[in-house]
Amino acid sequence: MKFEDYLNKIKTFTDDILIPNEEQLENDGEVSTSIMEKIIENDLFGISIPKNYGGLGLSMKEQILLTFEFTRASAVYRSRFSTTIGLCSQALLDFGTDKQKDKYLPLMASGKTVGSFALTEPNAGSDALSLETSAKKDGEEYIINGTKKYITNAPYADVFLVMAKTNPDIEGSKGISSFLVDSNLSGIEIGETPKMLGQKGSVSPEVYFKNCRVNKDALLGEKEGGGLKPALRGINHARLHVAGTCVGQAKRLIKESILFANNRIQFNKPISQMASVQNLISDSYSEMLAAEALTLSAAKKFDKGIIPETEISSAKYYASEMVSKVADRSLQIMGGAGYLEDNVITRFYRDTRLFRLYEGTSQIQQRNIARKIIKEI
Ligand SMILES: Cc1cc2nc3c(=O)[nH]c(=O)nc-3n(C[C@H](O)[C@H](O)[C@H](O)COP(=O)(O)OP(=O)(O)OC[C@H]3O[C@@H](n4cnc5c(N)ncnc54)[C@H](O)[C@@H]3O)c2cc1C
Repeated sequence: MKFEDYLNKIKTFTDDILIPNEEQLENDGEVSTSIMEKIIENDLFGISIPKNYGGLGLSMKEQILLTFEFTRASAVYRSRFSTTIGLCSQALLDFGTDKQKDKYLPLMASGKTVGSFALTEPNAGSDALSLETSAKKDGEEYIINGTKKYITNAPYADVFLVMAKTNPDIEGSKGISSFLVDSNLSGIEIGETPKMLGQKGSVSPEVYFKNCRVNKDALLGEKEGGGLKPALRGINHARLHVAGTCVGQAKRLIKESILFANNRIQFNKPISQMASVQNLISDSYSEMLAAEALTLSAAKKFDKGIIPETEISSAKYYASEMVSKVADRSLQIMGGAGYLEDNVITRFYRDTRLFRLYEGTSQIQQRNIARKIIKEI
């Protein structure tokens, strides 16, 4: 299928299936099995995986164009496959051995294997290098002990990509290694699903590794001391997809606020005819277009071969701040109804707040951008 045809297929899938089922998703508290089957049928697990591993082999630009579409629907759908298509598969693609890639990537591309990314800990958030989970060598095995926090999709995971200290005596990244830990091993417990401000139906509990024994071939790339490079490979992919997600969510918010403004009559005319309301809409639209252009520009650079980390941080930072402002303006347009009633705008207002926090907070993106450009000038 030509990419344009696939893009149209995903547009239609979003409009006909994902958006009409959003309220059901919120009520059920999880993406239903039938929607998951449709997500798999529509190949959304395969968009970031090369053809030789059964994926669609799309460029980053194409992945982002698709993201703009399917994230016009609730971000919870995306959350369900995001850890597999981004954080886990991309680290595996660049840092796994051929055997590891052959084992996991075709199953990830077909949606049969869900990956979950386990970096954050109670005492290691933005400062990921301070992680405390240990992986101690014991003959042909490693014994993993530690607590991971906010682990998206943990209850659905078939495999965890776990960052742990293999050498506690080495300060910084050299003492850290990554492991592909099958979720059916003993010594893994999943905590209760915490209640969240938004994105109801997305799950990010704690995961406890208690004397979890993994064979040495679970070590990513079969090399110790890879540090946070594999994690950052996944994170950079995910950051750009989050930027694309913010654009998709903003498009939907703008559409919904215009629909509301056209129907709400005050002073004998629709409020969409009032200049102050129009200003709110035009500010949102202009900023959405700027974020869209920035995200696509970073994606095109990504496709040239070198990961444009600073542009990715800029896109993630700008787009996530943008969508929060768009959500706030959209709610303002609804007046009191935006505060009192449960509707798509209030739901998106809660959902989009997360984008400034995960995959690196806004402050961490600002730090990344400034550190790089200060050095260059
Ligand atoms: C819903 C959800 C899902 C998540 N999913 C995953 C997942 O699947 N896997 C995973 O590993 N992690 C996941 N995370 C973790 C997420 O990436 C972290 O929450 C994030 O990196 C921030 O870490 P923290 O929450 O510990 O905040 P902290 O690092 O404690 O930050 C608190 C505040 O201090 C600021 N701050 C910290 N350091 C600096 C600095 N150097 N300069 C300026 N300001 C600073 C931050 O910007 C923030 O405002 C998820 C989080 C959430 C909320």
